[in-house]
Amino acid sequence: MSNAHNTSLDHYEVWFLTGSQHLYGEDVLKQVAAQSQEIAQQLNESSDVPVTIVWKPVLTDAESIRRTALEANAADHVVGVTAWMHTFSPAKMWIQGLDLLRKPLLHLHTQANVELPWEDIDFDFMNLNQAAHGDREFGYIQSRLGIPRKTVVGHVSNPEVSRQVGVWQRAAAGWAAVRTLKLTRFGDNMRNVAVTEGDKTEAELRFGVSVNTWSVNELADAVHGAEESDVDALVAEYERLYDVAPELRAGAHRHESLRYSARIELGLRSVLEANGSAAFTTSFEDLGALRQLPGMAVQRLMADGYGFGAEGDWKTAILVRAAKVMGAGLPGGASLMEDYTYHLAPGAEKILGAHMLEVCPSLTAAKPRVEIHPLGIGGREDPVRMVFDTDAGPGVVVALSDMRDRFRLVANAVDVVDLDEPLPNLPVARALWSPKPDFATSAAAWLTAGAAHHTVLSTAVGMDVFEDFAEISQTELLTIDEGTTIKAFKKELAWNAAYYKLAGGL
Ligand code: MN
Repeated sequence: MSNAHNTSLDHYEVWFLTGSQHLYGEDVLKQVAAQSQEIAQQLNESSDVPVTIVWKPVLTDAESIRRTALEANAADHVVGVTAWMHTFSPAKMWIQGLDLLRKPLLHLHTQANVELPWEDIDFDFMNLNQAAHGDREFGYIQSRLGIPRKTVVGHVSNPEVSRQVGVWQRAAAGWAAVRTLKLTRFGDNMRNVAVTEGDKTEAELRFGVSVNTWSVNELADAVHGAEESDVDALVAEYERLYDVAPELRAGAHRHESLRYSARIELGLRSVLEANGSAAFTTSFEDLGALRQLPGMAVQRLMADGYGFGAEGDWKTAILVRAAKVMGAGLPGGASLMEDYTYHLAPGAEKILGAHMLEVCPSLTAAKPRVEIHPLGIGGREDPVRMVFDTDAGPGVVVALSDMRDRFRLVANAVDVVDLDEPLPNLPVARALWSPKPDFATSAAAWLTAGAAHHTVLSTAVGMDVFEDFAEISQTELLTIDEGTTIKAFKKELAWNAAYYKLAGGL
């Protein structure tokens, strides 16, 4: 059985590379090794650092650097490398290795000691502790080669250093998950919708995601072939985990609809597992022999780590999957979201986000209600869905658009807020948020950037992780946050249009 949808970061590693040279002699290199091991260990001890850092022997020549880069490339479980020049590591030694390296790179600019040993400092100390200029040499060669990387500055005892390392590690893990993602589409896009279209061939090159379509009737066969005993067990799990509406419970008159929803979940899981897929899309216009639009089943799969996009939206499914991995182990969650309707009371404007059915219950710590209601769209039997309010707190909404010559990420920092009043007649899960810097600026920037109506809403990771993800994936990212003004945002769009054409080659 495939567990491609796993979100655990436990099996991942980041390699810790220390640069030096032979000039200093064996004794100094032993100290370099001991101190760099100590720094790697201190980072591993931080709860902010989710991926295990594996220390590698000190690198002192071009061949070992080149060899290490090739080994990192070849190791699927290595999501990135961290490099620190403890002493002075003449950077021409790094040219071949950096040029070959295909894994995310974090340049850690640190040193072993916090304070200058004012009383004792001598020139031996200066020779050993010269990252201040060793790392500048390394910065030069990275910039000269045009190597994308994150630079983190400070002593490892500073919590901000381990926090930034952790943020980057999460982005690197998300990237590793995306690079190996197989995405299963059941049916195509909703007819005539533009923003959910895109270049799937280019996506495989840029992101490593393989996007392919399966007949919805293959899914329907798996749904209708589910074992009764498996349906029994799953329905019992629903009644245990959720607040199931009385009409849906065992013995009640609509219980068969809940059983059918369980069949959809079993069928979806079996097809996705057979495909080794960790993300999928559905289309309400292409349901084949399915009797319900998949609702609760999709919600449950998202909660298990699957990426999902509705109406054939494979690009948003990629983002949901990335957000699931990047947020692994953190409070909060991630879900497909859609900007649905507004509260436009002056000074208190908010966005009500939801979808027809498919919002992930990882967005709440409360027990979801399981309900059944008619759905005007799709023309099938009433679908079962989980209904809940998203927990209040900071979050980010992120969209991915295909701009013809490149993919564009747009991210808006938001505050998910409590509902002003209950929504007793709204039969779907929802989130209410106020976008930064304010509603009008946020929406104008979003529209000006051509960002999609489908997004991932993440309450587990914020803007910083997506910024690192964009840098690692070399994808354009437009951020909308406290500092955004429309005037500057429009200039950024104009500059980006030129920059990405030049950066992509003429
Ligand atoms: Mn939609």
